[in-house]
Amino acid sequence: MGKELLRKIPSVDRVLKQFSNSNNKKIKDAVRKGLDNLRRAILQNLISEVTEETVRKFILEELERLETFNLRKIINATGVIIHTNLGRAPIGEEVAEHLKEIITGYSNLELNLETGKRGIRYQNVKDLLKELTGAEDVCVVNNNAAAVLLVLSALASGKEVVVSRGELIEIGGSFRIPDVMKQSGAILKEVGTTNKTHLKDYEEAISENTGLLLKVHTSNYRILGFTESVTSKELVEIGKKHGIPVYEDLGSGSFIDVRRFGLSYEPTVQDVVKSGVDIVSFSGDKLLGSAQAGIIIGKKEFIEKVKKHPLNRALRIDKMTLSVLEATLKLYKNEEYEKIPVWKMISESPESIKRRAEKLYSYLDGKLPENFSLSINGEEAEIGGGALPLETLPTFVVEISIKDRNEEAFYELLRRGKPPVIGRLKKGKLLLDMRTVKDEEIRTLSEAILTGAKRLVG
Ligand SMILES: *Cc1c(COP(=O)(O)O)cnc(C)c1O
Repeated sequence: MGKELLRKIPSVDRVLKQFSNSNNKKIKDAVRKGLDNLRRAILQNLISEVTEETVRKFILEELERLETFNLRKIINATGVIIHTNLGRAPIGEEVAEHLKEIITGYSNLELNLETGKRGIRYQNVKDLLKELTGAEDVCVVNNNAAAVLLVLSALASGKEVVVSRGELIEIGGSFRIPDVMKQSGAILKEVGTTNKTHLKDYEEAISENTGLLLKVHTSNYRILGFTESVTSKELVEIGKKHGIPVYEDLGSGSFIDVRRFGLSYEPTVQDVVKSGVDIVSFSGDKLLGSAQAGIIIGKKEFIEKVKKHPLNRALRIDKMTLSVLEATLKLYKNEEYEKIPVWKMISESPESIKRRAEKLYSYLDGKLPENFSLSINGEEAEIGGGALPLETLPTFVVEISIKDRNEEAFYELLRRGKPPVIGRLKKGKLLLDMRTVKDEEIRTLSEAILTGAKRLVG
């Protein structure tokens, strides 16, 4: 039986003759691979008949695979605004336009147009950051993990860095403060306990070998209940008294006070600078809503040392990052926050999100198989990105439940669809959170859902 079928597989040459562009590398690869896949399917008893139609199907499948990118656009229906697995912060149209212009041609990346001499690559970003944060000087590297490594290497190699036990965190992607510390050559000096660290713990740990007092934002976790920690301001006072610089790794780092969106207070970057902290670092693609970057700001004498360290050259940002960062910072300067997608999504009212849920509902209503049920519900969603882990924002979801079927299987079908749709599973139901779905994505989203549903029941 299998042998019969194998004999029916046409030769690569014969199939290629049917194509006018048979010399095209992509076509050749698709035919060869498609026929291979067909052969394998026959050997695995997955095929009972080989017709021209079967051959065409296998080749087209392979052609499509060759034309699809591994990294591709997905629809984020999780409601998590800064989702590490989904590319963190999206950027706005205007910023993307600027990026396109810069990378499709040449730019004055390191040419000072005034003097005609070699210029500094992030002069403008530096000026914008100084103005926005009140800091004296700026250095920008590849990401915040790189920023921490660079600051520790430049300011505390061979010296002790005092840090609270409660702040020795690990965040996603195996970034662990003790490991980064070791890599930088700095010596970790833990003080306090997991839940409580007092001012005197820091004071008692200071010796002539202390290089830095470090404060780390606990990002994606919180210690609740019987707790105590030292504020940036208090740490600055001890630092001043003993002549030791204070460095705060802020993690997400926001320019906007989130209390205006009904969330609880988180110090802004400006607040931390104002408290007198000597060096502050934060990510470019968390609450800042820009490109992946590690932004280091602070007092000139320390930032100078950071900039001069050889690692700085190894960790520097490229023109793509630079153009996105400058364009985003300009939006902050002009207070055009609605053009920064992260803030547009955080600030959107539940009523406005509900309208998009209703639109999706109307596209699906009456078109899904009859064992599917559909409803619109109020929900809560996290912001993500290690920002405000205990806070949620009220949102609206389109909820799908399937009688006698496995919602998880449906979730998986959507994830494998075109485009992939990532939602949330909750108590066996599939939730599509509309806070992170753009208006112009709703039609495509509804089509992906209908295709998935057809596959599930068919
Ligand atoms: C996210 C985070 C980092 C790492 O930042 P990346 O930009 O992802 O490299 C470091 N420290 C803290 C506290 C963080 O929250």
